[in-house]
Amino acid sequence: MSTPVFYARTPDYAPENLRPALERILAEEFRETEGVSGQKILLKPNLLAWRRRGDIACVHPAVIVETAKLFREAGASEVALLENPAVQTAPAIIRAMGIEEELKHLGVRTANFADYRRVEQPEGVRFHNLELAAEFLDYDAVADLAKAKTHAMMILTLCVKNLFGLVKGSERMGWHLAVGRDFGKFADMLLDLYLTVRPRYNILDAVVCMEGNGPGSGTPAQRSFLAGSTDALALDASAAAILGVPELLLLRNAAERGLDTGFENRGEIPEPNPLKRPDPPGILTEWGVFLPPFLKGVLREFVISKPLLDPARCIGCGLCVKMCPPQSLKLREGKPVFDLPNCIRCYCCQEHCPEGAITPHKTRAMRVAEKIEDSIRSLFGPHQKTERRN
Ligand code: SF4
Ligand code: SF4
Repeated sequence: MSTPVFYARTPDYAPENLRPALERILAEEFRETEGVSGQKILLKPNLLAWRRRGDIACVHPAVIVETAKLFREAGASEVALLENPAVQTAPAIIRAMGIEEELKHLGVRTANFADYRRVEQPEGVRFHNLELAAEFLDYDAVADLAKAKTHAMMILTLCVKNLFGLVKGSERMGWHLAVGRDFGKFADMLLDLYLTVRPRYNILDAVVCMEGNGPGSGTPAQRSFLAGSTDALALDASAAAILGVPELLLLRNAAERGLDTGFENRGEIPEPNPLKRPDPPGILTEWGVFLPPFLKGVLREFVISKPLLDPARCIGCGLCVKMCPPQSLKLREGKPVFDLPNCIRCYCCQEHCPEGAITPHKTRAMRVAEKIEDSIRSLFGPHQKTERRN
């Protein structure tokens, strides 16, 4: 089945440009569904952290406000914004963004998720007993507002990955620890979240994306579009192709599990324009699917990039130490030191570093393997050198 994915262009976040674009997308999503008249809507925006004006780690504040307005105007009886950012609270981020009053004026309640429990999961999930923010069950529909960003572990984070915010903060560490050694399992857990939550409305902010060292410290990449769909997975499949990562592990696993990733693009479809990727996961996800699990374990030391500190950028805040699931980081003389044998390569440290002081760094074995791969490609395939970084 091909689920429609709607695109609308906007050069920036100015309300006079953004609003008509959002309006076109939501009108299509409402047409596909029963609409929202008299319904309670839960907005789940991607709020990683708001550290400075114009921070691109979050969905843009104007997208949040205009979406809330459009849901209200379409007759939603209640609109709430709930999220569980890793460091700040959702109300603190909304305040720092400068949209607290506007949301209040619209009657939008803003809070952190708080009611975590095991929820009923549909057939076909692989990780049972997920403890989730059960508030989503109190609403008629969830609206997933995601930011298009690169991600060290998943390469790209779009709508499905945004649902990871429904997992309890303390358990998110546990999940990283439990499945961080195997990116495929992490992707499977995200797919389980998608199957369990099934957001009815999905909007992707790709007006200014993040590329490179995402999802916290990458660089802005103007793409000037919004995308929307009633299916988060279809939207991810479509947007990943446009943003240059059609082979996303999440989509590969979805296909293996027989989940429908079919899409049909409609509206102002953007030209494909790849984002500059983060360095890892590298070889393991490209070739690792063919390896037996025991070999993956042995090889991971050689074929997965290591977190590397740029001491000049580090301000010694210690956030990376706090966010490291297996506690393989310690502050010594004001700078973090990695215990690499215990590092599970989850890149939480890189994700949360406010200064972009941690980057994934390829191992020597990876560099050699890439040279071999490039030589093989140039001998047997079309002469196209794979883009390399770092
Ligand atoms: S690496 Fe980043 S998060 Fe860690 S102490 Fe330095 S500035 Fe803070
Ligand atoms: S050091 Fe960084 S990449 Fe390694 S386990 Fe800790 S947070 Fe994850």
